[in-house]
Amino acid sequence: MRALLVLAGLILCFIILSPMLRGWRPRLPWGGDRPDQLVKDPFCGTYVLRSKALRRESGGEALHFCSADCAARFARGERPI
Ligand SMILES: [Zn+2]
Repeated sequence: MRALLVLAGLILCFIILSPMLRGWRPRLPWGGDRPDQLVKDPFCGTYVLRSKALRRESGGEALHFCSADCAARFARGERPI
């Protein structure tokens, strides 16, 4: 009889705690599930975080630039210094 009460208490605890455990998730600073990746600027060769990079589409391919200046110069076909 006592074991049954302990079991009932454990089940009650689980029912109360499970929504809290499900609701708790560690918050990542960038707000995503995956860590931020480094992408290479094709113009100057600088590595930038994907979330901070300037994205441009070129021939169906996504390019990532460190700045608007790099993106504009790449689009004009300039060569890096
Ligand atoms: Zn750049």
